[in-house]
Amino acid sequence: MDIRVERTSLPKAKPDWDNLSFGRYYTDHMFVADYTEGSGWHDLRVVPYAPISLDPAAMVLHYAMEVFEGLKAYAAKDGRVLLFRPMENARRLNSSATRICMPDFPENDFLEALKVFVRTEQDWIPRQADTSLYLRPVMIANEPHIGVRVSRQFQMFIIASPVGAYYPEGLNPVRIYLEDEYIRAVRGGTGFTKCGGNYASSLIAQKKAEKLGFTQVLWLDGVEKKYIEEVGTMNVMFMIGDEVITPELGGSILPGVTRSSVMELLRSWNVKVSERRISIDELYSAARSGDLRESFGTGTAAVISPIGAFSINGELLCVGDGGIGPLSRKLYDTLTGIQWGSLPDPFGWTCEVPL
Ligand SMILES: *Cc1c(COP(=O)(O)O)cnc(C)c1O
Repeated sequence: MDIRVERTSLPKAKPDWDNLSFGRYYTDHMFVADYTEGSGWHDLRVVPYAPISLDPAAMVLHYAMEVFEGLKAYAAKDGRVLLFRPMENARRLNSSATRICMPDFPENDFLEALKVFVRTEQDWIPRQADTSLYLRPVMIANEPHIGVRVSRQFQMFIIASPVGAYYPEGLNPVRIYLEDEYIRAVRGGTGFTKCGGNYASSLIAQKKAEKLGFTQVLWLDGVEKKYIEEVGTMNVMFMIGDEVITPELGGSILPGVTRSSVMELLRSWNVKVSERRISIDELYSAARSGDLRESFGTGTAAVISPIGAFSINGELLCVGDGGIGPLSRKLYDTLTGIQWGSLPDPFGWTCEVPL
């Protein structure tokens, strides 16, 4: 499909590249496409960044018919601009959309849209160490209709935000609160999708954890409240003895691109990786016996987020010596090296944007 590009006549002033933080600035343009039942996706375009117009009866506003993605464009030192496994995001967007009764966006058009959009915004890709251009594709149901049914009209847009290092002081172990009251997801629900509703319902636990002095929550399964699922908005991994364990996907856990990349890297280093259920009792015993050597969250925003301690039933349990473990450090350095094009890419994960 053809993508029309309409350039802004009023480019914004660029931000201070050394003080970007996360999600504070947006670029000059956005990608937009419309869908109507019968004619499918049409009017693919890159246009000046501007508010979108929605009828107050638009279904997304009432029934949360919304799915999104998150990925980054990286400026390599040699001038190339790279995306990291963007087809994984294309597939996951469609898997999320199917669950919320929204249409597929063709995967090749998704990739082409990203490339055309990123090329248009190339002056917005920061070049400082650990910075990137965060890309946020979103699909909404914008049909004005407050009767509950599947929408017949949708809009897809992609916006971009230059972002700084997730941890400006460098990798920093975080403290995690075990959430035993609220639940993020259950099997059969929407836990495996990136839909806004998952975030709306989990904010309250995040707020509670922060009030108690913790950075993120550790989510348990919704049925037995016994098995570990995710940490905040990241997948979670534990190194117990010589085995790295991550909860198995099963409908309630989001299949992270970083999660699968970390598993592939570990396997290529001959580290034993298991996707299986891990109970809070197992974590507790491993922490008490000293077998819990490392733990970290994985996600596009922070890449690897080392966990220094867990609070479980009022007890604070240290992971290893509470610092950044060697495996966490090696994973972070390798993944970011591949993403920024400073290390070889033996898996063919990066995708160059033609400029
Ligand atoms: C996006 C997300 C992740 C991480 O996925 P990546 O593809 O690695 O960025 C993990 N858990 C939840 C709930 C998420 O929304």
